[in-house]
Amino acid sequence: MLYSHTVMGSRYYIETFGCQMNERDSETIRGLLEGLHYAPADSAQDADLIIFNTCAVREKPQQKVFSRLGNLRAVKQQRPDVLIVVCGCMAQIIPQQIVQRAPFVDIIVGPRNLGELPHLIMERVGHQSPDGPLVRTDATVTIPEGLPASRPRGVSAYVNVTYGCNNFCAYCVVPYARGPEVSRKMDDILNEVRRIVAQGYVEVTLLGQNVNSYGHDLDDGHDFADLLEAVDAVEGIQRIRFTTSHPKDCSEKLLAAIRDLPKVCEHLHLPLQSGDDEVLRRMRRGYTFAHYKHLVTTARQYVPDIAFTTDLIVGFPGETEEQFSRTLDACREIGFDQAFMFKYNDRPGTAAAEMPDKVPEQVKQSRLERLVALQNEISRQKNEALVGEIFEVLVEGPDPKAAGHVRGRTRHNKLMIFPGEGQWQGKLVEVRAEKAFLWGFKGRRV
Ligand code: SAH
Ligand code: SF4
Repeated sequence: MLYSHTVMGSRYYIETFGCQMNERDSETIRGLLEGLHYAPADSAQDADLIIFNTCAVREKPQQKVFSRLGNLRAVKQQRPDVLIVVCGCMAQIIPQQIVQRAPFVDIIVGPRNLGELPHLIMERVGHQSPDGPLVRTDATVTIPEGLPASRPRGVSAYVNVTYGCNNFCAYCVVPYARGPEVSRKMDDILNEVRRIVAQGYVEVTLLGQNVNSYGHDLDDGHDFADLLEAVDAVEGIQRIRFTTSHPKDCSEKLLAAIRDLPKVCEHLHLPLQSGDDEVLRRMRRGYTFAHYKHLVTTARQYVPDIAFTTDLIVGFPGETEEQFSRTLDACREIGFDQAFMFKYNDRPGTAAAEMPDKVPEQVKQSRLERLVALQNEISRQKNEALVGEIFEVLVEGPDPKAAGHVRGRTRHNKLMIFPGEGQWQGKLVEVRAEKAFLWGFKGRRV
């Protein structure tokens, strides 16, 4: 890198908010910074470059970012040479608000423009200008292949298969924040999977907003099930996971792939969002509850013990008590292993933000509490019914809380904590579930 001597010995600190895509993007940011000879710092206080990789999908993570940014004001006053960078979905959606609330920010970069980060940093190092931050937020560009990645050590790695989203669900800011959907070429994905295997990872999680639409924009005729088959054939990979599946594009071919490919785990994260057809229609989800239920039934025919997890929103504009109760019914009928449950939030620029009949905060809160109570009970019962069974567990490493114990995940993505040794890390072992919890099991190796 041409100017890298100017940052020799400098250190970076990165804080990541939000989803797995952001975790993966932060690995690219680390790779880019290490390419500039930045070294990691233990805290923001010790860093010459502070990066927030932000989330805009709901109000809460966004408020957290603004509050964390507020804390940096004092840091910047004490050490004006510190560079402050805001990346991620907030950078893309609300750059002006960031400038207003934190005028000391040096660089604002959207998720599709990460490749430009190194030269923006070099442009800014030692050249604080009073004209405000450098801003790059073009969500229409394609993320270049071959950006470096610095992944945390471990057994499991993320690999992107698609960027962006074309679905424009009425509540969702993602298509605006991450731009139109683009599939990576199969060869590029396979090469990255081979690279992570060479680095010692044994599990891959394939990431996309809607992995089932993988390949629609490529001319090689391959779809997501074909991609799974190709990844399954990569030597050294032991487990394959993927997220997120969209119910409108989930094919029987994919279900057959889960059944037939030995490394693909028997777990579908399939966001339902609501159990009511009218709410689903206004959410623009493109399916009915009957379609969803049929999909679940079919999946269970292909793979009888498949685990289902989901995302649910309560209090979408206009949602009545009766419509909400259909979401409760849906949880009882489907029996999700786990669910991520959210109160609806207005997001800038989305269709739902303009809809009438917003549900009052106390009503949303009460619906969320009722839904969480029900789903927790279901998750606990599901796990309790599995006590005594033996599961294949991929050992992630020592359990941070229980000395002499290790932790790992079953193929159904449930946590298992059991007596064991650190050198089992990365190994597949058979473990009997002895006690069930909401989060998974405590067990013993057999
Ligand atoms: N691509 C994934 C989800 C991305 S966002 C999918 O299509 O399912 C993750 C979850 O956040 C969503 O599934 C939804 O449940 C929730 N979410 C998104 N926008 C929201 C909003 N405005 N208010 C509340 N929850 C929201
Ligand atoms: Fe958002 Fe819908 Fe796209 Fe998921 S599919 S990212 S919920 S717009």
